[in-house]
Amino acid sequence: MLKVGIKFQVARAMQFSGSARAADENFDYLFKIILIGDSNVGKTCVVQHFRSGVYTETQQNTIGVDFTVRSLEIDGKKVKMQVWDTAGQERFRTITQSYYRSAHAAIIAYDLTRRSTFESVPHWIHEIEKYGAANLIIMLIGNKCDLWENRHVLFEDACTLAEKYGLLAVLETSAKESRNIDEVFVLMARELIARNSLQLYGETALNNLPLDSSPVLVAQGPTEKTHCTC
Ligand code: GDP
Ligand code: MG
Repeated sequence: MLKVGIKFQVARAMQFSGSARAADENFDYLFKIILIGDSNVGKTCVVQHFRSGVYTETQQNTIGVDFTVRSLEIDGKKVKMQVWDTAGQERFRTITQSYYRSAHAAIIAYDLTRRSTFESVPHWIHEIEKYGAANLIIMLIGNKCDLWENRHVLFEDACTLAEKYGLLAVLETSAKESRNIDEVFVLMARELIARNSLQLYGETALNNLPLDSSPVLVAQGPTEKTHCTC
């Protein structure tokens, strides 16, 4: 694991007020994460694996947006992760865009066996910039790393892109073989907590405070490099 310094702007605060917390079950943080990327890269499988730990081979195309909730225990804090699984198809774009607005973070997924899905990543970043809150945290995942023999996207290329756009991290995942799925969400939750801890009172101040972060770049696969030298 190599850490490189990519500069960030602090995102909005995300801790919910006492009353919001009381209205729901007990939790310390609630984070809303939007999962985007081209069709068939495995977004629904990733989110389902995160929810249940199970990989289901055949998926229906996602219609509009589905959401999944799972609570994590991180450093003694209960963190509720609400993950919005979107449809990549163009005809659902207007539905999807309305979900960008309230997201605290975004995960962009590509299929590392299909180069075109990686080439779409800048498009998804621009969508976030256009419709999301300022300084949304973005993580990149290269899914289907179990198919490493059919790889068409080098991990190094993903690192270069992550650096160029100031993304939090790149992880290669496999929903099929349970690789790095929980790690994606735990890493994201930790970053959200770290930024939130700078915030004292709800969603008001500190919107533009620069922060050094420690992005983590993790490749997977039997013969893969695990470090990125970018
Ligand atoms: P989405 O359109 O991005 O939500 O993609 P889906 O989750 O519906 O998955 C698209 C296809 O990829 C399905 O046939 C899945 O079974 C398959 N798939 C998803 N994740 C993986 C993975 O990690 N490895 C492999 N080999 N196939 C996967
Ligand atoms: Mg889907």
